Amino acid sequence: MAEIALKDVQKTYPNGYKAVQSVNLDIPDGSFFVLVGPSGCGKSTTLRMVAGLEDVTAGSISIGGRVVNNVHPKDRDIAMVFQNYALYPHMSVYKNMAFALKLRKVPRDEIDRRVKIAAETLGITELLERKPAVLSGGQRQRVAVGRAIVREPKAFLFDEPLSNLDAKLRVTTRAELKSLHQRLKTTTIYVTHDQEEAMTLGDRIVVMSKGLVQQVGQPLEVYRAPVNRFVAAFIGTPPMNFMEGSLASEGGRLVFNEGTATVGGRAGGAGCRLPLAESLASRLAGKFTPNAPIVLGLRPQVFAPASPGLTDRPTIPVTINVIEPLGDQMDITCSTTNNPSLVARLPASTDFTPGQTAMLAVDTAKLHVFEPGEFGRNLTIERT
Ligand code: ADP
Repeated sequence: MAEIALKDVQKTYPNGYKAVQSVNLDIPDGSFFVLVGPSGCGKSTTLRMVAGLEDVTAGSISIGGRVVNNVHPKDRDIAMVFQNYALYPHMSVYKNMAFALKLRKVPRDEIDRRVKIAAETLGITELLERKPAVLSGGQRQRVAVGRAIVREPKAFLFDEPLSNLDAKLRVTTRAELKSLHQRLKTTTIYVTHDQEEAMTLGDRIVVMSKGLVQQVGQPLEVYRAPVNRFVAAFIGTPPMNFMEGSLASEGGRLVFNEGTATVGGRAGGAGCRLPLAESLASRLAGKFTPNAPIVLGLRPQVFAPASPGLTDRPTIPVTINVIEPLGDQMDITCSTTNNPSLVARLPASTDFTPGQTAMLAVDTAKLHVFEPGEFGRNLTIERT
C-alpha cells in the first residue's frame, strides 16, 4: 500500500513535443484515481512516467514517500495492466499469472497460493490450464488483472484496460474492477478517454487537456461544479449545450440575452432571452461585466416540456429535429434561431414528433455561466 505524489511533473519527448506541461497530484493510499481526457492529452504519458516506462523531464514522482524518478520500473513495486493485456501466448493462464513471481524467485508454494487466491477472486479458476488464444476478451482481461494482483504491489496502474471489450462487457467488467478495488484497497491510477467510465469508477477523477490537469475532484463534484468550459463540455452525457450571449439587469432580474455583445446584445431580438433564477444571479454577483460576452452552459437535463405546472420557468421556442428513445427518457435534438443543434433529455412520455415546433421550459437555477473561450472559467461556482 502506498500514496503516490506527482510534483510539477513534465514530459518533453525527444522530438521536442511537450506531452505533459506540469502535473501535480496527491493520490492518497488506497484511493482510485482516474485520469480522463480526450486522446492525446497526456494521460498515458503521465501513467507511464509513474510506471517508470518513460523518463520524467522535470519534477518528481514518489511512491510511498520515496522519490522514484531514477528507480527501475521493476523496483517500483507497482503492477500495470495494459489495453492489449500483453499475455504470453505460449503459456497457460496459471503460468502467465505466476511468471513475474517466478522471476522474483518467490517460493513455489507461495506462488501457487497467490495464483489460486487471485484466480478465485476473479472467477477464473477453471481457466488456469488454458492458453490465452482460447479465451474470450473478457477472460483475457481478467487474467491480465490476475497477473497484476498476484504481485501484491503497492499500486495498480491501468491503461485503458477495457477498450478492447464490447460495450456490454465493458460495463460488467468495470463493475468488477470497482468491486475488486473495494476489497483489495490497493492504490490505483486508471487511464481512460471515456468520461462515463471515469465517473463510475473513480473516487476522484482527474480531467486533463493539453498536458495539463484541468480539475481534480469526486465525480459528482466535477459534474456539478466544473471549473471551466472544457471540463463542463467533457464531463456529462449527453454533453452540455452552450449559448453565446451576455448578461444584463432588466427590471430587477438578471437576464441572459443570446447573441454576442459585439453584434448587438440580443442579436436583433432573435436569440433566446432567459431571466435567471435568483439563486444563480446571487452566485454571479460582481463576477461579470454587464453586456460583455459570456457563454451560457445548459445541461440537457435542465429542459422540460413547457407545461402549466412550470409557469415560473422561462421557455424557449424550438423545432424538434431528432428523437432518440432511451427507455424511461428520451434525447431530442432541436434547433433554435441561433443554435442548429441543442440536445434536451426529456421524459419518454413527452409527446413530440420530428418537425414540430415546441416550447421547452428551462430550470435556470441549474445553468452555468462561463467566461468566453475553450477554457473559460465557470463564474457560477464558489472558489476555495
Ligand atoms: P493520451 O494517453 O492522453 O491519449 P499520450 O500521453 O499517449 O496521450 O500522448 C500525449 C501526446 O504525446 C500525444 O500528442 C502523442 O502523440 C505524443 N506522444 C506520445 N508518445 C510520444 C513519443 N514517443 N514521441 C513523441 N510524441 C509522443
